[in-house]
Order: sequence, then C-alpha cells, then structure tokens
Amino acid sequence: MGKASRDKRDIYYRKAKEEGWRARSAFKLLQIDEEFNIFEGVKRVVDLCAAPGSWSQVLSRKLYLPAKLSSDSTDDDDVPLIVAIDLQPMAPIEGVIQVQGDITNARTAEVVIRHFDGCKADLVVCDGAPDVTGLHDMDEFVQSQLILAGLTIVTHILKNGGKFIAKIFRGKDTSLLYCQLKLFFTEVTIAKPKSSRNSSIEAFAVCENYSPPEGFNEKDLHRLLEKVGTPSGADDLDCSSGWLEGPNKVYIPFLACGDLSGYDSDRSYPLSKAPDGSYKSLDPVQPPIDPPYKRALEMKKASNHKSEKLTLDS
Ligand code: SAM
Repeated sequence: MGKASRDKRDIYYRKAKEEGWRARSAFKLLQIDEEFNIFEGVKRVVDLCAAPGSWSQVLSRKLYLPAKLSSDSTDDDDVPLIVAIDLQPMAPIEGVIQVQGDITNARTAEVVIRHFDGCKADLVVCDGAPDVTGLHDMDEFVQSQLILAGLTIVTHILKNGGKFIAKIFRGKDTSLLYCQLKLFFTEVTIAKPKSSRNSSIEAFAVCENYSPPEGFNEKDLHRLLEKVGTPSGADDLDCSSGWLEGPNKVYIPFLACGDLSGYDSDRSYPLSKAPDGSYKSLDPVQPPIDPPYKRALEMKKASNHKSEKLTLDS
C-alpha cells in the first residue's frame, strides 16, 4: 500500500509521523499507561519484540530522558535501564540497550538476564507478533508461544509486585490464557487501546502485581501452565473455554483505554491541507534497516527490469 493511501486511511499512522514515533503502536502503549499508570516508579524495563522501536521510544521519552535531564551523569543509579530485544535489527534509541535475538530461545533470555546483573526488572512489555497468516487459530497459537516466551523471561527477571504487558490475540482460548496469567499476577485485565483497530483481534493483557505461586520453580513453568484447564489441575482456576458454566464461569475484566472520545482508529479523517489545498505526506520516521521482505523487493525489481529489457529488445 502506498504511503499516501495509508495516510488517508489511518489517523494514528499520520500522527505517529508528525510526533516522531517509528510506528503507530506507540499510541497503544501511551494509552495503556493513561489507564494503568504502568511507568510509575519504573527503573528497569525490558521491551520484548521491540522493532522498529516505537515502544522503546516511549520508554526512552517517558523514563530515560527525563531522568537523564535531572541527573548529571549517565552512570547514575537513577538513570533507568531499558533493554530491547527483537529478531530484527533496530536503529539506535537513546538510553536503550539492544539485543538482537529470538525471545523463544533460552540464550536470548540469558543475555537479557545478564544485562540486569542480578537486579530485577519493574516492568516487562511484549508487543510480539508473528507474521499473521489470517488463519485465526494458527495466529492465536503462534502468538501464545510468544506470550509463553515472554512469561518465561518474566519469571526469571520480574520483581515481585512488577508488571507485564503482553499483546494477545482474542480468541476461544483467551479465558485459558487469562487463568494462566492469573497464576502469576493478582490483577489481570484485557485492555483494548483506542488506537488498536476494533477490526483487529489484538488486545493487551495488563498484568499487575507479580506474585508467583509459593514455592514456584521457574523450571516447572510449562507443567504448571498445562495443569490449568485440565480436570486434575488447579480446580478453582480451571476456566478453559466452555468448561465452566453459569455462576462458575470466569468473567475476564475487559477495558477500553485511551480517550474514548478521541480518534477512532477504524475511521478515515480528512487530511490537514496546506493553504494552497495541497497535502504533503511525511516520510516514515525510521524505515526498517533490514526488513525480511528486502530480498523479495530486490528480486521483484530485478525481474521487472529484465522483462522491461526483453520488451525493448523484441
Ligand atoms: N512494539 C514495536 C514497536 O512499537 O515498534 C512493534 C513490534 S512488531 C508489532 C512485532 C515484532 O515482533 C516484530 O518486530 C518481530 O520481529 C518481533 N518478533 C516476532 N517474533 C519474535 C521472536 N520470536 N523473537 C523476537 N522478536 C520477535
């Protein structure tokens, strides 16, 4: 899709460029913060699946830059530590340490943990998304694997009382996921920021007050999660879809966040034109450094070039 047509359709896409965010996703994290105050008191944070980096930009602008301005040295303990991880390379962001790797790989988790040097994080955010296939069950499953990887890192690194924000795809297993997260956090809310399109099944699990079960051993994470949703598992937490009926059914707290009278991400808004009636589309703030589709584009370009040449020669 050309950038002008995207400009016409999507107000958050336009606003992101105007305000210098690398992606419109920045507004989702900002709107979650408006509702849940997730940055309060945060000194150490991990941004999982961070590229192209708009959430890391939010973290830098909200946590690192203000702390740096009010302190003389960047070595100061008061300057927040932000570690961002993604499969893709990311252009640098002030105050953000970058790790390129797969969050489902134990080695990547170890690298992240090492950066914390024995200290614990106050907040872990995960906006991870696989390449969506359009097959909802499949997409939901792959997404759940990213959440599981995020939760594994959380159990190693998050301090008691800390917060975890994770993108989820709402589907038939949302209640199971909710119960699994409830094993570790006293408060779990499924939030839908105004900037996340209603037409998308995306939502965010906002998990507050990390308090793992007593005697919890990180190595048992998978076994513990598998127990939820089976008749022999934790009975009072068993809420796999369709399993409990009537008064026993678990109701998942769901909250729309962001200014509800603000922009609607599914609507088209008129473009703001210059006095001469023209509209100038802004360039993306940070084009992808090494996108997976780069080679495909190069091949397409080369084949177009070849067929043009053949037409000229014939
Ligand atoms: N929060 C980001 C921002 O604001 O710019 C956008 C994240 S984007 C929606 C999803 C990201 O998840 C992609 O950059 C992708 O590379 C990353 N991702 C998907 N699977 C991953 C994995 N297994 N390990 C690390 N990153 C992964």
